[in-house]
This record gives sequence, structure tokens and C-alpha cells, in this order.
Amino acid sequence: MGSLLAKKQAGEECVICEQAKTRGIHLYTSFICTDCEKDLITTDTSNPKYNYYLKKLRKITMPEIFS
Ligand SMILES: [Zn+2]
Repeated sequence: MGSLLAKKQAGEECVICEQAKTRGIHLYTSFICTDCEKDLITTDTSNPKYNYYLKKLRKITMPEIFS
């Protein structure tokens, strides 16, 4: 229980930038920080960066059931 509390204080690891952030949204069991969320929304689908995000997000939307 103690470690859970400590984790909350330090923030959660964002699946995209892989940094511990305190603010963000939860997508399934993963966490996306507000910075990446904003980036993701504003990035055009033709932007190569978008593919990078998609690859990261694929980890979330493809649960281990399919492995
Ligand atoms: Zn992030």
C-alpha cells in the first residue's frame, strides 16, 4: 500500500514520453500525460511523428491476450 501511495505522488509513467508525470489521462491500463495527449491531438496524421505515437499506442490497444 505504501508503494502505491508513493507512486501516486511521483506521478505515473507516460507510455509515450516514458516520463513520470502527475497530470494526464488513463487509457485502458496505461497513462498518457497531458503534454503527449495535446501533442497527439494536434499532430497531423501525415506527420511522421504520428506514426511514432500510433506505435506507442498500439501497445495499449493490443492487450496481451493476442500475443
Ligand atoms: Zn508523455
